[in-house]
Amino acid sequence: MNLILLGAPGAGKGTQARLLVEKRKMQQLSTGDMLREARSSGTEMGQRVAAVMDRGELVTDEIVIGLIAEKLDSGSEGGFIFDGFPRTLAQADALADLLAAKGQAIDAVIEMRVEDEVLVDRVSGRFTCGNCGEVWHDKTRPTKVEGVCDACGSTDLRRRPDDNAESLRQRLMEYYKKTSPLLGYYHAKGSLHVVNGLAPVSDVETAISGVLEAAG
Ligand code: AMP
Repeated sequence: MNLILLGAPGAGKGTQARLLVEKRKMQQLSTGDMLREARSSGTEMGQRVAAVMDRGELVTDEIVIGLIAEKLDSGSEGGFIFDGFPRTLAQADALADLLAAKGQAIDAVIEMRVEDEVLVDRVSGRFTCGNCGEVWHDKTRPTKVEGVCDACGSTDLRRRPDDNAESLRQRLMEYYKKTSPLLGYYHAKGSLHVVNGLAPVSDVETAISGVLEAAG
């Protein structure tokens, strides 16, 4: 089962991807995480894309397609969850080709739909545990003890440099200009499903499970 999670920044793609990894042994492929890793390990590519990411713009198709191609080579028993990829039509075509070369395809595409005003609140308060990846929020999901992850006890809590109002405005613009055409593309292919991203996390999870069961 190969699944694409589509949605604006803050729609909850990463949170749902983590749940799917836990429960279905799928592998999450987040190009955002891969790019952040490249940045923090100081690779030449990481340095090259850092400013682009901080401005909230998209990095080149060539870079992200290369990152995904590498990961697909290793295969995944439970299938892949594409989180934050594809973000352009060129990336969508490249992904279809890469999967076809392995005799695979995209089984379902889920759009997590959330209004822009909610995205601003969600993104501006969120922080993540650098150790276990758990996602927290100042108002809606604070840690019990400030500065300590409830899930694993780490104090390595991080905020993304692009989770600020200005970058978010740009990220939303990029989403509507370059990524939202994918909704029509996958709708035409008959693989698009829409879930209400405003619902509680467990309800979104149930809705996604329903889509996967119907597709599987
Ligand atoms: P994300 O963690 O998915 O919100 O991605 C963070 C940033 O990484 C984005 O704002 C882009 O600058 C870059 N990025 C991640 N995935 C892609 C992609 N598929 N295509 C282009 N840029 C990407």
